[in-house]
This record gives sequence, structure tokens and C-alpha cells, in this order.
Amino acid sequence: MRYLILSDVHANLEALEAVLESAEPWDHALVLGDLVGYGADPNAVVERVAALTPATFIRGNHDKVAAGLASVEGFNHLARQAIQWTEQVLTPDNRAWVAALPQGPVPIAEPQPQPFTPEICHGAPFDEDVYIFDDLDARRGFRVITRPLCLFGHTHVPAMYAFDGELAMMDPPRGRASAVTLQEGVSYLINVGAVGQPRDGDPRAAYGLLDTATSVLTVTRAEYDVAAAQRKIMTAGLPEVLAQRLAIGR
Ligand code: ZN
Repeated sequence: MRYLILSDVHANLEALEAVLESAEPWDHALVLGDLVGYGADPNAVVERVAALTPATFIRGNHDKVAAGLASVEGFNHLARQAIQWTEQVLTPDNRAWVAALPQGPVPIAEPQPQPFTPEICHGAPFDEDVYIFDDLDARRGFRVITRPLCLFGHTHVPAMYAFDGELAMMDPPRGRASAVTLQEGVSYLINVGAVGQPRDGDPRAAYGLLDTATSVLTVTRAEYDVAAAQRKIMTAGLPEVLAQRLAIGR
């Protein structure tokens, strides 16, 4: 089974379209949450993502706030302004769809389970809102995962941790497409990066492809029309910084 892995689209329709156009053929989409927030196209992104089929979806922290399921308390000034705008523009149907997104982690059901049939979460496998940024967070994650491969998002930074009794942080994928062959007997926590608001200094949209028949996971970057996404953010009256950061991938 070939899985398309999308995380943190953040209402960036230009980035999402570029990813869907450039992606190799896939059988099943995994959408790791934060469809909305920051960007100017929450309705179009929700509708485009909802139409991906077959797919497994989970919610992110921005989705929860936009759907009225969590308070804006923990959000910084920028995230707060963007999510309040998002709440106002989401159509009732799209808001209801976002509100119904399940909480991670979710183990993926595959007709013929493979060694690396994954589970997915937004932040961490022990708490959907927690960031996995360092060894300590990863160690906590490895203690609770139920599959040898757990895909996560939330930090917007590609990252790979491996555990085979010892913890190793592997080099994050760089370049246009970087592939890793997963080794049996090793467990992995992998973040393929963000589609709609990369924060690793590379402005291109990031996404992943996992082939469970070959155990190869590829992280790919797709160029997209950043200027168009920026213009929409400015036209919507969202904070200028949200447009600026797209150009530098921070
Ligand atoms: Zn996010």
C-alpha cells in the first residue's frame, strides 16, 4: 500500500494543490491534522482534503479551536488572530466536518498488514497537543507507540527518530526527495514536515510517501506559488507576518 502523508496544510491551498499535482500515485491518504489556521483558504482546503479518498484523517490543535472544541488560550498572538478569523469564515458544513475529525493516535488498518503499517498522530502519540522536538519527547513517544512506525506532525519540521534499544536521531531529510528504507526490528517516529507552513528554512511544501510493501518512506518538497498564498493572506486582513514567513520557510 502506498500512503500519501500530509500534515499541517494550514489553509494553504496553493501548497496543497502543488503537492497533490506532484505526488507519485498513491493508494491511501493520511492527513495528520491542522488543515486550517494561518492561511487564507480554510474552506477550499477542507473541501479539497475531505474529497481525498480513501483517506484517514485526524485533527490538529488548530482544527480543534476552529471547530470550537478547544479554547484559544494556549495560542500565541498570531495563531490566535488567524484562528479567530478562520472561525468566522468557515462554513457551517466545513466547521462540522472539522469538528468530527478523530483524535490521534490512530492505527491504520491495512488488509494485509506490513511491518511498517503505521499509526498516525498530530503532536505526539501520548498527547495530540504536545510537540516532539527532542530526544526526551521522542523517548516518551517510543514508550507508548503501538506500531513500529508512528507518523507525527505539529512542529512543521521534518524529523526522524529511530529506536532499537538505543535512541538515534537521524538526519532530517533534505533536498527535493529523500528516501529512507525502514529496517525491521527498529521503531521509528517520523515527521515529514508541513505542507502549508514549513519551518525548517525551506519554503517548499513538504509531504511524504510511504510504501509499506517495500518499507521505503520518501520525504518530498514541492515548489508552489508562494506569492499567491501571500496575497490572499494580505487581502484577508490576516497578520502580515503570516505571509512573510511563507517565503522563508520559518
Ligand atoms: Zn500546525
